[in-house]
Amino acid sequence: MVVGKPFLTVEQIHQKNKELADRISADYKGSNLLAVGILKGAFIFFSDLVRLIRVPLTIDFLVASSYMKSETSGEIKLHYNIREEIADKDVLLVEDIVDTGITLNYLRERILNEGPRSLKICTFLDKKGRREVDVPIDYVGFEIPNEFVVGYGLDYDIKYRNLPYISIFKKTA
Ligand code: 5GP
Repeated sequence: MVVGKPFLTVEQIHQKNKELADRISADYKGSNLLAVGILKGAFIFFSDLVRLIRVPLTIDFLVASSYMKSETSGEIKLHYNIREEIADKDVLLVEDIVDTGITLNYLRERILNEGPRSLKICTFLDKKGRREVDVPIDYVGFEIPNEFVVGYGLDYDIKYRNLPYISIFKKTA
């Protein structure tokens, strides 16, 4: 197994986060923003992003899992749900990576059922070519090809989340 050179560097990531945060800050002026990070994968992106957003916000988390090693199981488990009241909130759901879209679609539907004032989605990475469920995404960091990536919060077999950059993961024999 090899974790190689950065596919996205620390500098590229920071620059992109600033761009996303600027757009979000402009769009959410005067709103009642609740930023919800989807754990575990989005924990680093989420904490970088919220520190760059310049409008008042509250935060909460969802803990969901859908993956077995590098293959999707298509099954989603919700281990922790949002505790904040969301009926009067402008919810921004923050995800690490969208692949088939199954996870995000499931979480989106759940939140919409609770009647937030609005709901938007921000993802750091988007593997658009792999989409099976059409889920609307409002803010995308990087569109990437169909490769399995690790680092910046993303794991392979519960490792590599602490790499400060994104790397393409290659299995060796
Ligand atoms: P989806 O439901 O969209 O197929 O899968 C979304 C979830 O799968 C992400 O939140 C992430 O946990 C995982 N995932 C999808 N692609 C990758 C990848 O390239 N690397 C890693 N580490 N996880 C991925």
